[in-house]
Amino acid sequence: MAVNTTADWNDPISCPFCGDELTSPGAGFIDHIDSSADCEDGFQQWRANIAGDLAGEWSG
Ligand SMILES: [Zn+2]
Repeated sequence: MAVNTTADWNDPISCPFCGDELTSPGAGFIDHIDSSADCEDGFQQWRANIAGDLAGEWSG
């Protein structure tokens, strides 16, 4: 399983997973992953990584 830890968050109006332009930072990204399963999957993995760092009790 490859987890993309090099996602580019420096450009908040583009999806860091596919590069698509977002309608807005934040909310636009949520809408985007809602309609893109691949990006949602990437986001879930990315978020799980962050959560794993912050909360040691996180388990799948
Ligand atoms: Zn995307």
